[in-house]
Amino acid sequence: MKLLFWVLVLALFFFVLGFKRGRPERSTPPPPPRTDAPVAAAEPAPERMVDCAECGTHLPVSEALPGRGGHFCCAEHRSRFEARLK
Ligand SMILES: [Zn+2]
Repeated sequence: MKLLFWVLVLALFFFVLGFKRGRPERSTPPPPPRTDAPVAAAEPAPERMVDCAECGTHLPVSEALPGRGGHFCCAEHRSRFEARLK
């Protein structure tokens, strides 16, 4: 009977040891999912807007034509504006 007791104690000991080893330690909680990064990466950066020096049309700087008097919406306005400068 004494042997059975020690066998049970040892079985319980190894059972607890195996149970602890089998479970992964989670001392720190998992990091929260990042919600800001994908949204920020998907949206393009805001583009600078400029006014046409001739007619005042508001347009992005990538679509504007650079000229002597500033930016222009089209070549016609640029030539008209630069003709007045002479
Ligand atoms: Zn214009």
